[in-house]
Amino acid sequence: MLEPVIAHWLAEDASNTDVAGLWVAVGAAAISVGSLVVAGLSVRHAKRSADAAGRVARVELARDHRDLAPRADWFNFVTDSSKRVAQNDRFLVGTLPRTYRMHGDLIFEGGSRSPLVVTPGTTLPAGTEIRAWLFEAGKTVAPAEVEMRFFPAISNDPGEPWTCECGEAIAATGHESRGHWVLRLKVEPPPSGPWVAWA
Ligand SMILES: [Zn+2]
Repeated sequence: MLEPVIAHWLAEDASNTDVAGLWVAVGAAAISVGSLVVAGLSVRHAKRSADAAGRVARVELARDHRDLAPRADWFNFVTDSSKRVAQNDRFLVGTLPRTYRMHGDLIFEGGSRSPLVVTPGTTLPAGTEIRAWLFEAGKTVAPAEVEMRFFPAISNDPGEPWTCECGEAIAATGHESRGHWVLRLKVEPPPSGPWVAWA
């Protein structure tokens, strides 16, 4: 746009040619610098947008990770005396809304551990009650806490396929694997009965 206007002005007064030529050059240079600045701003804007999109994506992944985390209120401590008279077996029971993989431990006062044995096993199918024996009230030492280390389901597990895309490891390499999510529950004593150590 600039150059034709100046060219027209030059045609009217040829003596301005050099000065005008200089202005054209300056103008062109200014436009170039302007373009570079605009281009630079565009790159910066694009980078900022990408950074912002990355941040949003990370926030969303972190939120999904939290939303998928197993919750304490999915579990209950129950006493079951139905199988063998005069025993008070304390269990952890729970029902999960989606299939998880899980390894767990009973943690005793002082920090010693023993593996948490869960029915039906390492794979905990969605909608199926899981059950883990904890101790026999009044007979065996009660654990202080239960630690459950959860991972998303893996392919061919029962239920809807799902995963967590936050970037943390999604599969256990063994019983000791740090969980994708870790849930620690303080073991609740039986509400009544022959159990006395909790008094
Ligand atoms: Zn996650």
